[in-house]
Amino acid sequence: MIEKAELEEARRLIEERGCAPGAEKVALPEAHGRVLAKDITAPVDYPPFNRSPLDGYALQAADTVGASPGAPARLKVVDTVYAGGYSHKIVTGGIAVRLMTGSPIPEGADCVIRQEDTRLEEGWVVIEKELIPWENYCFRGENLRKGDTVLKKDSVLQAAAIGVLAGVGVAAVPVYKKPTAAVLSTGDELIEPGTLPAPGQIYGSNLYTIACRLKECGVNVLSTGILRDDSAAIGNAVAEAAGRADFIVTTGGVSAGEKDLMAAVMKGLGAEIVFRGVKIRPGSAVLFSVFGGKPVISLSGNPLASAVTFELLLPSFLQKITGNRSLERRTMQAVLQNDFDKKSPVRRALRGKFWRDCEGKAVVEIIDHMHSSGNLTVALKSNCYVDVEKGSTGLKRGEMVRIIV
Ligand code: AMP
Ligand code: MG
Repeated sequence: MIEKAELEEARRLIEERGCAPGAEKVALPEAHGRVLAKDITAPVDYPPFNRSPLDGYALQAADTVGASPGAPARLKVVDTVYAGGYSHKIVTGGIAVRLMTGSPIPEGADCVIRQEDTRLEEGWVVIEKELIPWENYCFRGENLRKGDTVLKKDSVLQAAAIGVLAGVGVAAVPVYKKPTAAVLSTGDELIEPGTLPAPGQIYGSNLYTIACRLKECGVNVLSTGILRDDSAAIGNAVAEAAGRADFIVTTGGVSAGEKDLMAAVMKGLGAEIVFRGVKIRPGSAVLFSVFGGKPVISLSGNPLASAVTFELLLPSFLQKITGNRSLERRTMQAVLQNDFDKKSPVRRALRGKFWRDCEGKAVVEIIDHMHSSGNLTVALKSNCYVDVEKGSTGLKRGEMVRIIV
């Protein structure tokens, strides 16, 4: 067991215990937000036929050579095609076929003239301008050819991707199986939103934050709810959750107080304790154990601390078990926009607001005014962490700092 792991080491120890996901085939409507497990190739050309991009007439451009208001071309309209229809007529010199947007261009035609640029006179279309071959002509397969790679393995299927797959007729896709997490929070003081607090009670918010973040990362969440600070109850809940979930996240009970029971409970279950504590603040109180092969990540009950630890420790693990590479955290340098006077004997993760200035340079402001680790609302204003080295005597505006976006 490691007492007080470095952040990077802690991250790696958790990631190591994650399993890469298997694959399953799901119907397109269920594939939204999922991660592709294989490359997808187009089973058909797109568009599937030569197609008219507008309402007009299909014809041969050669018939319009020299056409002008003074000497218009006149072509016999021999057929009309609506979207969804098809004309078996072959367009030869002297004739035209009326087309609606999206309808197939008949064989023989090499261009389409916009309806607005024509006049219809008793079955004849009158054209007062020249057309060039392949004007207003969408070729079969011009977006995608049969066999082209439409989407690469590991892409996250957002709305546009789902639309493209539907457009080429793909009805089901192989995606990574979603892992399942069980989340539970512990604390005698906690009650559910919607109930009235007795003196000393507070609303439990961690389950909501953690469950929502897990869902955003593509994890199914089973919620065990709020548990009292009772070793037997917590032990039973963890053992039961380990039977149903791929991993467990708990909050509360990992500090050094009398009712901080998590470490004793996990030991009592015979779990392997991998590390206890991480050298970063907030979020130093954290316990990582493995029970029955299932990783159990026990975060502090402190709402901000648990959120910070989640963001700093779990992304690489979540990336591994979901196959979603975009979950990996990006680390970069940014120019600090404000002074931060406090000394940091230990490494700190300060909430920050990152943006790019007018020259595209990465800049960051530390959100400092309410930086107690119990302050949840600060999470609403920030989009990154500023990684402050241990032993820092303060940071000055204009300095380069390392941020985790
Ligand atoms: P603990 O880690 O159990 O010592 O809790 C640390 C602090 O966070 C205490 O002030 C708790 O009341 C508070 N806390 C614990 N669990 C939650 C929770 N689920 N939601 C909000 N606050 C909590
Ligand atoms: Mg507690």
